[in-house]
Amino acid sequence: MKRRAIYPGTFDPVTYGHLDIIQRSAKLVDELIVGVLTNIGKTPLFSPEERVAMLKDAVKDIENVKVMAFDGLLIEFAKKQKASFVVRGLRAVTDFEYELQLSLTNRVLSSEVDTIFLTTSLKYAYLSSSTVKEVAAFGGDISKFVPKKVAKKIEERYSKKKNNQIT
Ligand code: ADP
Repeated sequence: MKRRAIYPGTFDPVTYGHLDIIQRSAKLVDELIVGVLTNIGKTPLFSPEERVAMLKDAVKDIENVKVMAFDGLLIEFAKKQKASFVVRGLRAVTDFEYELQLSLTNRVLSSEVDTIFLTTSLKYAYLSSSTVKEVAAFGGDISKFVPKKVAKKIEERYSKKKNNQIT
């Protein structure tokens, strides 16, 4: 049987930190499914379709990685995809509490799906989608945080927002 894992997240947008987790976890399994969450509380900068498209482009050279949108319960998505692992990344203690709670809840919902935590690479330990958006909103250089094409999309989005505010 294939060893399959889901790496779920909002990915609004994908950063080098996410891509590092994807590259490393893809080596541990036969197939890695990056699950893009569509039902999130806050309004995202990018639509699910845009987030999926950016991810697909960023992982196109990694053979065993698939990108899919999903909504509803992660455990249900994992079962449907016949995945027995969930991958999550840990940056700091602040991630830990939330991640522990999430993985324990998922364990109660289904004992068949286990969570694997990968610690961040030191060079991406500070990186999050929200920081990238904050820097971009103030016109800062985000080329060290996200792939070139993603940076272009973010910059376009913020310049559009700015123009809408002026007119
Ligand atoms: P969520 O809204 O589910 O936290 P994110 O897109 O913010 O979704 O993150 C998805 C996963 O990637 C989470 O497990 C998060 O901790 C992890 N992650 C995000 N950025 C990094 C990073 N720089 N290094 C390691 N893991 C990260």
